[in-house]
Formats: sequence, C-alpha cells, structure tokens
Amino acid sequence: MATQYSNISEAQEEKLTSFSQLAPKPQIKSETLIRLSTFLQTTLDYQTLLSIFQREIASAVLVDGIVFENANLEINFTLGQLGVHSSNYQLKAQGEFLGDITFYRSTRFREHELANLEALLGTLVYPLRNAMRYKGALNQAYRDPLTGAGNRILLDDSLKREMGLSKRFGYDLSILMIDLDHFKSINDGFGHVIGDDVLKAVVQQIKACIRQTDICFRYGGEEFIVLLNNANIANARLIAERIRMTVSELCIESDKGPLQVTLSTGLAMLKPDDDKQDLIHRADKALYQAKHTGRNKVCVCKECHTAVLE
Ligand code: GH3
Ligand code: MG
Ligand code: MG
Repeated sequence: MATQYSNISEAQEEKLTSFSQLAPKPQIKSETLIRLSTFLQTTLDYQTLLSIFQREIASAVLVDGIVFENANLEINFTLGQLGVHSSNYQLKAQGEFLGDITFYRSTRFREHELANLEALLGTLVYPLRNAMRYKGALNQAYRDPLTGAGNRILLDDSLKREMGLSKRFGYDLSILMIDLDHFKSINDGFGHVIGDDVLKAVVQQIKACIRQTDICFRYGGEEFIVLLNNANIANARLIAERIRMTVSELCIESDKGPLQVTLSTGLAMLKPDDDKQDLIHRADKALYQAKHTGRNKVCVCKECHTAVLE
C-alpha cells in the first residue's frame, strides 16, 4: 500500500478525495446535543436511557424501534416497533463492551441519517457505560454468588411483581420447588468442591430448560424455585419434566469418576386468593410428596390437581 501511494504525484494527490471527505457529515443542532446529553445524565436505568435516546434524537433521525443486547448482563431489551430496515452497532467505551444496539425502521436509513445516528451514539456511550455498571452491581446484589441463580431478595421482588400481574391480567403463574436428591451423600462421597460444581451445573441446566422470562432462584442450600409466568399446570409440568430429564442425564466429572444427580420437584399454580406463602407452601407440600414416593419425579400439589380435574 505504501509503495502505491508513493507513486502518486502531488498534483494527482490533490484531486483524490479521502473516504472521510466522501462520507456525509452529521448535521445535528447543538441544542439537540446539549438537550440529549442533559437528559441522558438523569438516569442509571438502561431502559429509561434508551427511551430518552429514541425520543430526543427524533429531530435528527427517526427510528421506529431499538433492540439492545448484552448477554453477560442478561439483557435483551426491545423498544418500539421492529421495521424491516436496520442498522447495528457494537458499543464500547475505552475497550469496555457495553452491548449491541440495533435501530429499526420501516423505511431505509439514508447516509446522512446514519451519520447523524453515529454522532448521536457518541453521546449515549458514557451514560450507557454507567447504566451497565449499575446493572452489573444490581445483578450481583440479586444473585447467589455460587450458582448465579437469583437470591431470596430477587425471589421476593419477582414473586410480588408476577403475582400482581397475574391477578391483574388473569394469566396463569406456576412455581416449581426443586430439591436435589441425596445431595448430602454427594458431598460426603465426592467432597464439597464437587458438590458446589454439581449445584452450578444443575442451575445451568435449569436455565437452559426455561424461557428467558422465567427465573430460577436459589431458595436454600440445594433447593431452587423456578417462577414460570404464563404457565398453567400442564405447561409447568412439561417444563418440570424437561428439567428432571436433562439433569438426570447430566454427567459431572470428578477425580473419583463421573457422577450423576437427580432431583425432585413440587409444582403449584397460583390461586386467586393465594398470598406468597400459600403458593410456596403448596409447592413445598408437593415436593414432600415427590420425596416420599420415590424421588427423581415431579408431583403436582393436591389442590391444584383437583382444580385441573374439575
Ligand atoms: P433429600 O433427597 O431428602 O433431599 O436428601 P439430601 O441429602 O439432598 O438432603 P439433606 O437436607 O440431608 O442435605 C442437603 C445437603 O446440602 C447438606 C448440605 O451440606 C448440602 N449443601 C447445602 N448448601 C451447600 C453448598 O452451597 N455447597 C455444597 N457443596 N453443599 C451444600
Ligand atoms: Mg433440601
Ligand atoms: Mg435434597
């Protein structure tokens, strides 16, 4: 490349136009930039941040919808409408990955609009970095550090929210209470470190079996609760069986050879006059039944069962 350039005379060089000169320059009013950066500093919540961004950039470029994804922070957020035309950017701040953002529109983006969008994205980067750090801190505060499952604080918040939504909009809400079978003997036979590996592997398998909107929580030592929104007994039973099968087929390596684990599950569905304790208590009773009728099985709470048969 260097030799090619050295063959070009100075006169020729003057006639050549660089790519940066060819690219359209962004045309954004300074008031827009000032207003945008002021508003972006008002929140640490990434969802609010992105809606402010979409609203405030409208005078320079209209977008119908935005998708923002950050797998490490378990973010997959959609705002507005997804049109057929899109423009995608990977956002980083000084090498720190912030996420992938895609702008959607029903009509094609013009070159000058993309130039505007890219210039405006520069204003979003640092507020978004702060929002991502905040989300990371929140995730940590709400997670069990060993398995990455939600902790009891998150369970309380999520149950309250999902029960409220379920009662308001009338959709089904089911929970699974899961307990590993004979886990004490795994600890005794293979050691606590392997026991910890088993807990981590089981949570990974549970997460792989549920939808993105469902959440897995560590309820106690080797007990987990899975919150399944929009799931009746039949749907929840299918998911519970899928989890049971997947975990029973799991083979965990240890220096004493491979080991396998099974789990027992109690299933309960929210009833209209249930409070949080009622729902958990019924799932617990069903789990007790699973433990006392052979383990490695899914049992539905008796009351829910009767409700289904009626
Ligand atoms: P069951 O089938 O009746 O549920 O039997 P179990 O052995 O699984 O139940 P038990 O309650 O007797 O034992 C649970 C064990 O889980 C005892 C405890 O040491 C272990 N445990 C709890 N938390 C952890 C943890 O974070 N790591 C490890 N490795 N073990 C844990
Ligand atoms: Mg237990
Ligand atoms: Mg157990």
